[in-house]
Amino acid sequence: MLSRRYQRICQTLDCRQPDLTVIMEDVHKPHNISAIIRTCDAVGVLDVHAMNQVVDGEELTTYAQVAQGSEKWVNLYRHPDISTAIQSVQQQNFKVYAAHLSDRAVDYREIDYTQPTAILMGAERWGVSNTAAELVDGHIIIPMLGMVQSLNVSVAAAVILFEAQRQRLQAGLYNQPRLTPELYQQKVFEWGYPELVDHYRDRQLPYPPLDAEGQIIKA
Ligand code: SAM
Repeated sequence: MLSRRYQRICQTLDCRQPDLTVIMEDVHKPHNISAIIRTCDAVGVLDVHAMNQVVDGEELTTYAQVAQGSEKWVNLYRHPDISTAIQSVQQQNFKVYAAHLSDRAVDYREIDYTQPTAILMGAERWGVSNTAAELVDGHIIIPMLGMVQSLNVSVAAAVILFEAQRQRLQAGLYNQPRLTPELYQQKVFEWGYPELVDHYRDRQLPYPPLDAEGQIIKA
């Protein structure tokens, strides 16, 4: 791996926020999924959660794999249904806030995003389901002062995520790496040597150690 690429990978991993995530509930348009994942990368989100679904005739994972964009830098976790997705992050002590135009929604800027937080985004057409609305810890709304009732889902995700980024920058959460050293090293290898990942995975071998320049230390 070239030194410049290694530096870039490290700078990006230094900013990754393992306790900020997004759950997409039935967001199904590929350009919206792509835009949300791209924003996640820019804000430093490590993982995104989605339900098992098919996007334009393609399994979501396949879509993400072939999209060849920011999807390479953000982990996509699929869940069988929205309840499982919400509960899996709540079990890791995340608070889940649904971006949901409901009567009990509060202004999205009132939330403390420096705490472990998941933002749940609803489907383009139907919004957030009743099941999800009941399971989450709160509802947030981006005030709308015009004639239309809602934003495009990827735009809404960006508005909320950049507020989370603003708060976290202010709190110093981007000042030092927040991934465990093991996960950090794993990501350096996977991002720096993607062509070798299958070799190690297929053989269930640990990734080789890297030196301070990101070069593989030969045994
Ligand atoms: N008719 C749908 C509804 O009533 O919820 C509109 C869905 S909207 C196009 C898609 C998703 O974007 C919503 O489920 C929500 O997650 C998010 N969203 C859009 N505008 C929003 C806003 N002003 N505040 C909070 N979330 C919003």
